[in-house]
Amino acid sequence: SLAPIIADAVIVGAGPVGLFQVFELGLLEIKAHVIDSLPMVGGQCVELYPDKPIYDIPAVPVCTGQELVDNLLKQIEPFSPTFHLGQEVTLVARREDGRFDLETSTGTRFITKTIFIAAGVGSFQPRTLKVDGIEAFDGSQLFYRVKDPLRFHGRNIVICGGGDSALDWALDLVGKAESVVLLHRRDDFRAAPASVTKMRDLCEQLEMQLIIGQITGIETKDDLLSEIKVTGQDGVTRRLPLDDLLVFYGLSPKLGPIADWSLEIERKQLKVMNTEKFETNIPGIFAVGDINTYPGKKKLILSGFHEAALAAFGAAPYIFPDKKIHMQYTTTSPKLHKILGVE
Ligand code: FAD
Repeated sequence: SLAPIIADAVIVGAGPVGLFQVFELGLLEIKAHVIDSLPMVGGQCVELYPDKPIYDIPAVPVCTGQELVDNLLKQIEPFSPTFHLGQEVTLVARREDGRFDLETSTGTRFITKTIFIAAGVGSFQPRTLKVDGIEAFDGSQLFYRVKDPLRFHGRNIVICGGGDSALDWALDLVGKAESVVLLHRRDDFRAAPASVTKMRDLCEQLEMQLIIGQITGIETKDDLLSEIKVTGQDGVTRRLPLDDLLVFYGLSPKLGPIADWSLEIERKQLKVMNTEKFETNIPGIFAVGDINTYPGKKKLILSGFHEAALAAFGAAPYIFPDKKIHMQYTTTSPKLHKILGVE
């Protein structure tokens, strides 16, 4: 594997608070790496409500989740953080030299002086299909995300779900796959209306098929998944032969590996030792945003921003042990102007 990246600060989570943590560290001349398990930045704002308006960001009367994130990205541009997306932080361990080893699910490794956990409600993971024995085919014939669309060309595929991912992939793979069946538990879709109309047209033209029902079992042949059993609304179970099964049941957040890092946890939140620094029980590891808890905690974006500012000051002595850190105004400080590139 590749050599570890040597870092001063690694931020776990690219939600609004993780992004603003980059800014606050940047003002103190600390460069950050940011990791997120999702393929894009923005956390809940982008994953759960990109188009919904937010009204309680100070001095921003209204903006959508996506706009907030776009503005945060713009604001942190001067600090050019390095993003490592589509990978979950799986391991955090203290080293003998006082720094931390940190590793992701794709094998990226870091040695870092400080860690900022801005993991929100946890890392978003695809909701899995709950059918006896199906786990054995995960990654071989059962897929929760499409990494390589070509893989499905010429195959008989069944796509489960009623949201945009299910519909988008059904429409994309029609005509390329040998056959496409869309399977949904009810005849009502959360996906964009235009996609639903297009899907129904394609069904009428017999280009693809829509089945209403639920997977209740599987059949295997020579260690391969050969059929699924689908129970319809009429209560009758029918067999459906297939080569590949694509399941899009949405994403749900999981605290996941964070639970194994010896951090103090209270009701699935990371306890911080005080509200001066937002440091956890492990010196050098800070927790900010929705993931942390302390007396009076409110899970609001503005609270997370404040926490990020104090955590940055709290962390600075680990990175610059001999430097006295002063708070300065961005308005008037020539030093901050230089850092921000606005001289
Ligand atoms: P998140 O936004 O949850 O981001 C955390 C990120 O960390 C995620 O992207 C996740 O994938 C990643 N992550 C977690 N674990 C790992 C890991 N091990 N490895 C890698 N990555 C990991 N707040 C307001 O202030 N005003 C509002 O009007 C408002 N409206 C809301 C409306 C809705 C519908 C919802 C659901 C929330 C709303 N909130 C609102 C709450 C707000 O979205 C959260 O407070 C905010 O997103 C928290 O930011 P965060 O950066 O702490 O965490």
